[in-house]
Amino acid sequence: MFDYAPAPEAKLASFQKSYGHFIGGKFTKPANLYPTINPATEEVLAEISHGTAKDVDLAVKSARAAYEKVWSKLSGAERGKYLYRIARIMQERARELAVAETLNNGKPIKETRDFDVPTAVSWFFYYAGWADKLDHAGLGHNPQALGVAAQVVPWNFPLMMLAWKIAPALAAGNTIVLKPSETTPLSALLFAEICQQAELPEGVVNIVTGFGDTGAALVGHKDVNKVAFTGSTEVGKIIAKQVAGSNKKVTLELGGKAANIVFDDAPIDQAIEGVINGIFFNQGHVCCAGSRLLIQESIHDEFIKKLKRRMSTLSLGDPMDKNTDVGAINSADQLAKIKKLVKKGVSEGGELWQPECKIPRNGFWFAPAIVDNVSPANTVAREEIFGPVLSVITFRTPAEAVTKANNTEYGLSAGIWTEKGSKMLKLADQLNAGVIWSNTFNQFDPTSPFGGFKESGYGREGGRQGLLSYLKAGK
Ligand code: NAP
Ligand code: MG
Repeated sequence: MFDYAPAPEAKLASFQKSYGHFIGGKFTKPANLYPTINPATEEVLAEISHGTAKDVDLAVKSARAAYEKVWSKLSGAERGKYLYRIARIMQERARELAVAETLNNGKPIKETRDFDVPTAVSWFFYYAGWADKLDHAGLGHNPQALGVAAQVVPWNFPLMMLAWKIAPALAAGNTIVLKPSETTPLSALLFAEICQQAELPEGVVNIVTGFGDTGAALVGHKDVNKVAFTGSTEVGKIIAKQVAGSNKKVTLELGGKAANIVFDDAPIDQAIEGVINGIFFNQGHVCCAGSRLLIQESIHDEFIKKLKRRMSTLSLGDPMDKNTDVGAINSADQLAKIKKLVKKGVSEGGELWQPECKIPRNGFWFAPAIVDNVSPANTVAREEIFGPVLSVITFRTPAEAVTKANNTEYGLSAGIWTEKGSKMLKLADQLNAGVIWSNTFNQFDPTSPFGGFKESGYGREGGRQGLLSYLKAGK
């Protein structure tokens, strides 16, 4: 097999030695520091402040003051201008953001450059256009913002998740306190600089870094009107309990265990690419990843043979190399979780296969994997692994495919590969999933709502529906 010569991206991002929180338009003095690392090398990139309840309180107060004194008084058209300005500055700083995201997350530069950053930018452009058209959001004339939004995001798409949360909230007229994940705070801190550069009024966006306890203090703060959370179902349930009985409006975007269903009449080579993208994109750290391959029994052997051949061509390694397909696992904890679940799946009868690949000496890595011969009761068919591991399950009839696909606590996404439009439409109707792709996978667009059924959460992000999470009917 040929190998490409290395093509590393230049280190176009530089970080401060340490960061405070972004509160009231300024960075606070760094305190209570912990290191944030590059998971591909374990090198320390910067020291980050672990936010306390007091920091959260200051941030919420600053967001409240900005809401009352400034943001709620601006017209939609004026708010829209700020969103456009943020979008354009993000475009100008796109390569820097892509490099920062790759260094802090471990995902390949080709993904941050061509997907994460452009998608984040598109969310700001899209919602900028909505800011002066809220009368058409579906809540009647003159809908109102909720007030202060508490937003907590995970580490798998740090900047993109930030954009999905911040853009609609600002367009709808809310102010914000956001907590990024402990392992990936850097792109959010660069975003704070972008807010300064855009001269966004002080306190409209506040960012408090830290761990789960910081998130809990934010979600539980009595002066927030809205809680928007993306993360694990486990933490989502804690949050749902925490806010129960309060007046806070809540959206929860949680885990998934999507079925990617391939029929014998599917365009096979295309389906192989879709299955590869579905599970190995972003090392499988994707809530809507196609982590269960449901393959029609008659083509199982041929398909798996082709899939293995294609997996052997994936290049794993330096995320800053433009040729890299599979980057680093985001943290030692996540790597341990993946290894544990795969081991369990094998002990329950799954057959593990991984292509040979050179694993770098430092950092956290897991070679792309398939676990074949998985029964629906196997742990790897049920639990979200959140890593580059595909569980393979067979079916004989469309009805069996639907039963198996829906046999999960989750319901975030699904894929259907078939040449027959009628079969695709019928199946799409029967699958319990918020997003269904056919003959493609992992397509995102700001105009299209995204969200789950069952334990994948409630509420929608994106599109007109995404605005409704941040608005109430006018008087
Ligand atoms: P996580 O452990 O649930 O953490 C998510 C965020 O919540 C982090 O910022 C985390 O802080 C914070 N947090 C932890 N405990 C908290 C608490 N008690 N109260 C408030 N906040 C708390 O999830 P993750 O491991 O970062 O992310 C992976 C999960 O996100 C997967 O399950 C994935 O499916 C899901 N996800 C869903 C979507 C979607 O749209 N449905 C999109 C992306 C990811 P720390 O980082 O400091 O722990
Ligand atoms: Mg966590």
